[in-house]
Formats: sequence, structure tokens, C-alpha cells
Amino acid sequence: MKLTLRTLADQVQTEGDAYAFLEDLRWHGNPVCAHCGHDKAYFLTPKNGTTRATGPNRTMSPRRVWKCAKCRRQFSVLTNTVFHGTKVSIRSWLMVMVQMCAAKNGISAREIERMHDVTPETAWYMLHRLRESMRRDPLAGMLQGVIVADETYIGGKEKNKHASRRDSHAMGRGTHQVPVLSLVERESGEVRSRVLPRVTGANLEQALKEDVIAERSVLHTDGLPTYRRPGRAFIEHSRVDHEAGEYVSPTGATTNHVEGFFSQLKRSIDGTHHHVSVEHLPRYLDQFDFMYSTRKLSDSARMERMIGQAGGRRLSYKPLTGQ
Ligand SMILES: [Zn+2]
Repeated sequence: MKLTLRTLADQVQTEGDAYAFLEDLRWHGNPVCAHCGHDKAYFLTPKNGTTRATGPNRTMSPRRVWKCAKCRRQFSVLTNTVFHGTKVSIRSWLMVMVQMCAAKNGISAREIERMHDVTPETAWYMLHRLRESMRRDPLAGMLQGVIVADETYIGGKEKNKHASRRDSHAMGRGTHQVPVLSLVERESGEVRSRVLPRVTGANLEQALKEDVIAERSVLHTDGLPTYRRPGRAFIEHSRVDHEAGEYVSPTGATTNHVEGFFSQLKRSIDGTHHHVSVEHLPRYLDQFDFMYSTRKLSDSARMERMIGQAGGRRLSYKPLTGQ
């Protein structure tokens, strides 16, 4: 099925539909207890078949509730996920998810605010929660094979940048330039980015050690001398000399993969998000890593992966009012 706003609007007409839709994407027909992980649960059928009375006012809620066969506790598809405790309709969440999964350059809080008639705080918070579910699984394996590494600066003033990395779109004024390191595993196309405190040999070495099995990998970088030291742990280290106008080294090394990713990232930060604070940059990197790493998937497969990662990620910071 091709998942678009149109097909979603046709299929998901009520909140009950939205719950069921989310259950399908997340559980594929086998609900898993949100409390103990047990895979047998009973659906608690509401008395009137579709809605149940909840809350102090006994208002009817379309929330679909399950009861675990083992720990006997109740849960829904939202329990302990990034959607936990939300007051925004699940239909709206699904629509924002579809939009986010389809938007290469990302989608701004302003657009969400306008399209879904929510407050600016709610729009911002929804996007942040969804970015959280785009964050890579902390248990994801290490990268190996041909690894392309490159760094760029986000949020910096143009004049502070190295001449070869300057571009015409300046970032927000008065912000600090923050170095971002991205690693691409060439075979799978997976990308992993992180903010570095500073671009030093020791920091690059540490970052590479955390994400790459060096003894099974070949490293491709540009000519930056700082990569020399971390490069020694790899089977081979090929460098492309951009200063000499080289785009592919004599051994076939190229950093084009990462440069494509960086231009997408910058286009998005400039064009859609306008300004990203240093504090929130890691979340945007999660989003862009996810989008880039899944670029060959269909929008619906991407959304399914995103929902698969939504569990166990309740955000710890306090929801803003109006959630
Ligand atoms: Zn349980």
C-alpha cells in the first residue's frame, strides 16, 4: 500500500481507526505488553463496542485498551512510547508522521501548526517526539566495510569557515559554529552523525572507535591531516585531496556520499528550519541520519520502521501545556 495523506485520510476516519492503524504498524496483529514484554494480551472490549468511558467526567474515549495475560496490567499502543500521555489526536500524529516521512528537507513546526491547528508549542513538541523515534537504536551494530568520514560546520558564521566549505547560505546570526562528523557505510548507505566538541585527532579517533570496526574497514576521508592518527587503526586509509581539485583519489576513494548528505542537511536547516540551536542539533541529526539511511525505502516502509522504534522512548522532559 502506498501511504500518503490521502490514503491515510480515507482509511483512518476516527480515533478508533487511528489506534487500530498504529497497532497494525507496530504489532502486526500480535500485541506486546508495554510493561513486561509478554506477547499474550486480551483486548478489553468497550461495552458499546467502540468507545469506553474514562476520566473524571466519564467522557467516552476511543482508546483501545489491552490487558496483559501475564502481569495483568493494562496498556494501549501508546503506553511507554513517544506518544505516551499525548492530548493530540492520534489521527493528527499519524498525519504528521506521514508528512515527516515524505519530506526530504524536513517539515517545520510552523507548517504543522497551520495544517493541524495546534499551538506552536504543541507543533514543536510533536516534531521533537517524532525525531526521538527516528533516533537510531542504541543497540544497532557497528559499521564496517568502506567507511566515508567527513566533517562540516553547522550554525557558524561564513567567514569562520574554511574556504572550501563556504557556501552562500549563512546560518543564523550570532550562533556558534558547531562541528558535525558524519560517517557513511558505503555498502548499506547508513549514515551516523554526531556533534563534536572540536575537530581534533583524539575526538575523531574516539568517534570512529565507537561506531566502526576499524580492523574490518577501509577509511575514506578528505586531506585533513587530523584524520591521519585515527586512520592508522584501519586496514587502509585513502584520502582525497580536495585542495588539489581532486574528487576521486587514485585508489577510488571519494567523500561524495557524505557531501551529498551535508548539502541535504544544510538545505533543510536553511530552508525549512531556518535556525537550529546547538542544544537541539543532535535531534535534527537523528532525523536526517534516519531519512538518509532509509532513503531507498518507500515512505510507508520508512514510517513502519519509525513506529517500530517508538517504544521505550518516553521523553523525560516535561510536556509543555496544551499537549
Ligand atoms: Zn505484562
